[in-house]
Amino acid sequence: MTGKTLGLYFHIPFCLSKCPYCDFYSGTDTAAVSRYTDALVLHMEDYAASAASYDVDTVFFGGGTPTVLPLPRLLDLIDGLYDNFTLQESAEFTIEANPATISASGLRRLRRAGVNRLSMGLQSADPGELKALGRIHSFEDFTESFRAARKAGFSNINIDLMYGIPNQTIESLTETLERVFALDPEHISLYGLRIEEGTPFAERKGKLALPGEDAEWEMYARAVELLAEHGWAQYEISNFAKPGRQCLHNLRYWNCEEYLGFGPGAHSYFGGRRFAYRRDLEAYIASLEYPGSVPDLLSEDYALRPSERLGEYVMLRMRLTDGVNTDDFAARFGISFEKMFAKYLPLYLDNGFMKQEDRRYFFTPKGMFVSNYILSAMLDFDSDIIRGIADGSDR
Ligand code: SF4
Repeated sequence: MTGKTLGLYFHIPFCLSKCPYCDFYSGTDTAAVSRYTDALVLHMEDYAASAASYDVDTVFFGGGTPTVLPLPRLLDLIDGLYDNFTLQESAEFTIEANPATISASGLRRLRRAGVNRLSMGLQSADPGELKALGRIHSFEDFTESFRAARKAGFSNINIDLMYGIPNQTIESLTETLERVFALDPEHISLYGLRIEEGTPFAERKGKLALPGEDAEWEMYARAVELLAEHGWAQYEISNFAKPGRQCLHNLRYWNCEEYLGFGPGAHSYFGGRRFAYRRDLEAYIASLEYPGSVPDLLSEDYALRPSERLGEYVMLRMRLTDGVNTDDFAARFGISFEKMFAKYLPLYLDNGFMKQEDRRYFFTPKGMFVSNYILSAMLDFDSDIIRGIADGSDR
């Protein structure tokens, strides 16, 4: 044990089919799968020395759909992990999976290889909503995969759900939640559908029967209430867990702790720098097959200025129901949270978007729903308040 901990993220940019709302970096051409997993292992070897002083306590294979990889390739990656990093025995090790990409025997093999958490994409239990989202599974397919995962020994499973789907109603969302409650997963994520630029959904936005912002708010508020009543406590805008089952990997992001991301589009925060690889599979593979051959592999690479660190801290911590602890804030930045945001806090407290208890400021569900707007108003990086005060000291 070294005392310093690290999270590892592996981006697997392959899917069985491309969902029309999705802007994650992924595609259906799997011709390069073996070259890609070999490249990831080479990349792990490159990082072995600089990560030698860390204990890895979370690993996340995301995508894309990691379980689209043939099992032997997934196992190569897992071997690469153990060969190049020190994993804590209790490390949380998650793989994202979709029904139709996992078999009972594959699940057992992954479990034996140390994977101890699954994150499964359901989105909705309603056949019409699944079709509208272009998902290729039914609720029955999902249930079968979920049961196979339980049988294979997975006792920590997340189910991804969505609200704001075309034609979705409060009643159909409630029905989906009730069917999911019956499966009794340890963790539930509930994301609002966003229409992202460049996706097929964006092209036909006008024709989609989207519920509208008021209906979305009612869905979100109802879901937060139902989840709490049934034992899944909210701990982040979109995430709910049974006691002790929060996703430790994602908590690393929200707590501004270090992580390394591997693969095209993957982001890292390591050694005081934030950097990310371009969303270009071929360039990523070539850079590892022929080191030095791709000079512009990074899409960003910078050391955080104190004002940016402060802004990120507030933005990420306020996603959590714990919110910002004013003592912790003062210890990190040498500034009073209340003084810094004196212009905003009374407004949001008085209007029911925020609450203050003990030394914490945190969003109510109503504040969570519009947190993007609130935080972008509070965190104007160019404002004299943030720049002037924070960049004066580098703590
Ligand atoms: S399966 Fe997931 S990552 Fe793949 S296209 Fe659909 S939403 Fe995107």
